[in-house]
Amino acid sequence: MVYFDNAATTPVPKAVADAMYEVLTAHFGNPSSQYPIGVEMKKAVEGWRAVIAGALGCPAERLYFTSCGTESDNWAIQAALWQNRHRGRHIITTAVEHSAVLEPCKLLAQQGYEVTYLKPGRDGNVTAEQVADALREDTALVSVMLVNNETGAIFPVEEAARAIRRSKAPALLHVDAVQAFGKLPFTVKKLGADLLTLSGHKLHAPKGVGALYVKKTTRLLPRTLGGGQERGLRSGTESVPLIGALGEAVRLLPPAGEALEHIQKLNSLLRQELAQLPGVVLHSPEDALPYVLNFSAGKVRGETMLHFLAQREVYVSSGSACGKAKPSHVLESMGLPKEQVQSALRVSFSRFSTEEDVGALVEGLKEGLAQLAVGS
Ligand code: PLP
Repeated sequence: MVYFDNAATTPVPKAVADAMYEVLTAHFGNPSSQYPIGVEMKKAVEGWRAVIAGALGCPAERLYFTSCGTESDNWAIQAALWQNRHRGRHIITTAVEHSAVLEPCKLLAQQGYEVTYLKPGRDGNVTAEQVADALREDTALVSVMLVNNETGAIFPVEEAARAIRRSKAPALLHVDAVQAFGKLPFTVKKLGADLLTLSGHKLHAPKGVGALYVKKTTRLLPRTLGGGQERGLRSGTESVPLIGALGEAVRLLPPAGEALEHIQKLNSLLRQELAQLPGVVLHSPEDALPYVLNFSAGKVRGETMLHFLAQREVYVSSGSACGKAKPSHVLESMGLPKEQVQSALRVSFSRFSTEEDVGALVEGLKEGLAQLAVGS
C-alpha cells in the first residue's frame, strides 16, 4: 500500500501502539485515585504533558489535553472571545482555515460577531499586511493557521503577531498548528501565539486526542464542568492511553530539520516527475511546507483519479478529508478556475514515505491520465 494522505490522518507506529497497549492493559488506574496505581497514572500524564510542552517550548502547565484538533480550535476561539468580551466582537480569520475554525466563526456571526475573512492570493497565502489592515480597536481574536492542510502554504504568523502587538486591538492570536506541529520547527513564544492547537492523529498518534496551548495571561472558560480534571477547565477522566500515545508519538518525532530534508527530497522528486506529465498544474506554492503537494492532473476529476489510484492501493485525497466531496473552499478562494478545483489532488507525505512510493504514485497517475482522460 502507498499511503499519501497523511494530512488526513497518519498511521500509528508499533512503538506508539505498544505504549498505548501497555497503559490499557497494565496501567488502568484512574489518575484521580489516591492509591498508588492512580497516583502513578497522574504522574505519567504529567510526564507526557511535559514531553509535548517541551516540543512546543512552553511550561507543561500551559498545555491542556483535548479530544482532537477541532475541540482545541473551538475552545481557543471561545477563550479569546470570553477574555475580550468587554472589548470587542470583531474576529479576523482567513478564508482558507479548516472548518474547525470556519464553522464556529459562522455561528458567531449569527450571534452578532463580525468576522473578517482574509482572502488568500493565488499562492494560497495571506500576508501580515492583510492582518494589519484588518485589525480594529474592537478586534477580539485573530485566528490564523500555521500551515494550510490543503496546500501546505506556511502563513506569516510571527509577523501577524507583531502586527497585533503594534495595533490598538486587544486581539488574542490563535494558531491552528495541526498540520505544522512535528513538521515545521517552531516554539509558541517565537510565533507569539496566545493559543495554539495541535492534534494527535496528524503526527502518528491515534485519533481522539489533541491539545491546546494557552499562554499564562489568557483565561480559559471551562470546557466541561465536573470533577475538576485539567486544572478545573476540562473535567472528565483523562484518556490516559490516548494521552500516553500522544506523548510517545511526540517523544519519537525525529529532529524536525532531519525529517524535513527527507520530505523535501520526495517533494522535489514528485514535482520533477509531475513536470513531465501533460496538463499538470501545481497549486501549492514553491515555499510551501513540503509535506503537502496540491496539483491538478489534466482534466480528470480529482475524485475519479482518487478512486482509480485507490484501486491500485495508492491513496491520495482530492482535498480536506472533512470537505467530503465538496469543491475545496481553499482552492476556490485562491481564485482557481472551476476545472482546476475539480481536478485537484492532494498528496501528503510522512516521514515513513519513500522514493518508491513516489514512483508508484507517478506510474498510477500516468496510467490514470492515459485511461481516464479519454473523452473528458
Ligand atoms: N485544523 C487543521 C488545519 C486540520 O487539518 C484538521 C484536520 O484535518 C483539524 C484542524 C481538525 O483536527 P481533528 O481531526 O483532530 O479534529
